[in-house]
Amino acid sequence: MDLHFDCTQCGRCCHDLRLTLSVEEARAWAGRGHQVDLLTEGWPWPDDDEPENPFDDAVLQWRKATSFPVLVGDVPFRINLRLVARHDGPCPHLMPDMRCGNYAARPRICRIYPLESRPFEQVLPARRKCPPEAWGDDLQLLERNGQPAAVEAKAVLAAHRQAMIDDVPLKAGLVSALGFTETALAGEGLAVCKIAPPDLLTALEEAECSLWDAPQHWTIVTNRQSTAQTLCDLDCPVRLVPAGPAFLQAFADET
Ligand code: SF4
Ligand code: SF4
Repeated sequence: MDLHFDCTQCGRCCHDLRLTLSVEEARAWAGRGHQVDLLTEGWPWPDDDEPENPFDDAVLQWRKATSFPVLVGDVPFRINLRLVARHDGPCPHLMPDMRCGNYAARPRICRIYPLESRPFEQVLPARRKCPPEAWGDDLQLLERNGQPAAVEAKAVLAAHRQAMIDDVPLKAGLVSALGFTETALAGEGLAVCKIAPPDLLTALEEAECSLWDAPQHWTIVTNRQSTAQTLCDLDCPVRLVPAGPAFLQAFADET
């Protein structure tokens, strides 16, 4: 299937950001004094070293490659940590004429938009910020059968995904340096660690020098009483919080 697109330079994708960055990009972003949050989600993860490995599914292999192992109580989990540039309103690099003031050094995620950065997900125009006139069969080819049409976009997307894998050990060290051990359950939301840019830079430096493993014992944060109760029954540490700065919810608060 073909998808055709041409950017209208409307600037919508440069507002109300949630840009997933590599460690290197996060360092550059925070180095310019801009906010980078840590967002975590986790999956219960049975022992996958068994001969009958249940994780031969490509989606699960991707999850495994981009996460590190921990324990929640006695339950094995894997945690995916994203470094995310989050800004309400315009990006700090956006210029009044809607051009990027950081064009040469903009993150890969900006270079590939509106392509889908996650593997196994289709580009859905309705879920993109681009206006209707940016899509049309008479415009240039963006994607064919789920693959970027442009060689350069393909290379940037591949580099972005590879960084999500290569950065895992450093991210594990980063949460160790910060002492951050909270996660949401995947599908329910994202736990948030807000940290001032200079502190993030210091913690990244410590993590790089030490190559620590992630702390082993984690707590689930949730805004749903039913989830909290289930986890309590399993003797898993849990913290019930309202949706807000510490928890980006997928569901309304349930108390
Ligand atoms: S870095 Fe540039 S392209 Fe990326 S969101 Fe900011 S202004 Fe837009
Ligand atoms: S939202 Fe889409 S059309 Fe508008 S500037 Fe961004 S990529 Fe271009």
